Amino acid sequence: MISNLAKPLIILLFLISNSHASEVSFHGKFVQGGIIIGHSSLVEKVFFDGQELQISNDGNFIFGFGRNHKQSSIIKLKFPNKTETYNVDIKKSDYKIEKIDGLPSKMVTPGPELYERIKNDRVLIGQALKEDYQSEKFTNKFIWPSNGRISGVFGSQRILNGIKKNPHGGLDIAAPTGTPIKAIADGKVLMAEKGLYYTGNIVIIGHGYKLKSMYIHMEDINVSKGDKVSQGDVIGTIGMTGRATGPHLHMNIYWNRIKINPELLLEM
Ligand SMILES: [Zn+2]
Repeated sequence: MISNLAKPLIILLFLISNSHASEVSFHGKFVQGGIIIGHSSLVEKVFFDGQELQISNDGNFIFGFGRNHKQSSIIKLKFPNKTETYNVDIKKSDYKIEKIDGLPSKMVTPGPELYERIKNDRVLIGQALKEDYQSEKFTNKFIWPSNGRISGVFGSQRILNGIKKNPHGGLDIAAPTGTPIKAIADGKVLMAEKGLYYTGNIVIIGHGYKLKSMYIHMEDINVSKGDKVSQGDVIGTIGMTGRATGPHLHMNIYWNRIKINPELLLEM
């Protein structure tokens, strides 16, 4: 008769002999807006929907799914002696419809005199998002940037003063002006600028492996472009600069310039 104690041992031996089950692990949710951290100590190359991913020295890699990501993805892993292909389902997310009224009309439909300024802002942000920073700390747990009430969630369809706009790309945390904002992970400041039209005062931090966090509508900014920051460093404070109806932090998370759901990263 096999005792209860012996059973787990049998399962363990099975896992070791079945290399398929022990060579790769995925952490995160396969859902629209989700982010996945993969690990394999033996993998030589990883492809996500045909795109080769960077693999850290420890065998970690990262990828994510945008708001409207298709319903499946292909992950291909190349090992020294074989190639494995996973066809994974990406769960559909339900998004809210969010109506915001009372915004100054020039913030919803800016006049032509503002086009140049808005275009320049977009170029500045685009340049910062193209940069990257080499760090392997993305496998550490992320922390929330501020304490406050969640006043806006990722992906909502926004109707501003009755006009249908782009979906909400980030997470809003409402708190009084002056509330500290912390870096969610170690990284390097890729942008720290004041006075942009929509975003107001803005900071972008690169965390490595194409993962970035963006903090907007800030009151004060405590960092400068090029600064290295540690997780928990106060990079500035909550405000309502740019297009905002009240003091709050809007945070975007980007992987490979795709906006992902910040809450899914923070809850990993
Ligand atoms: Zn927002």
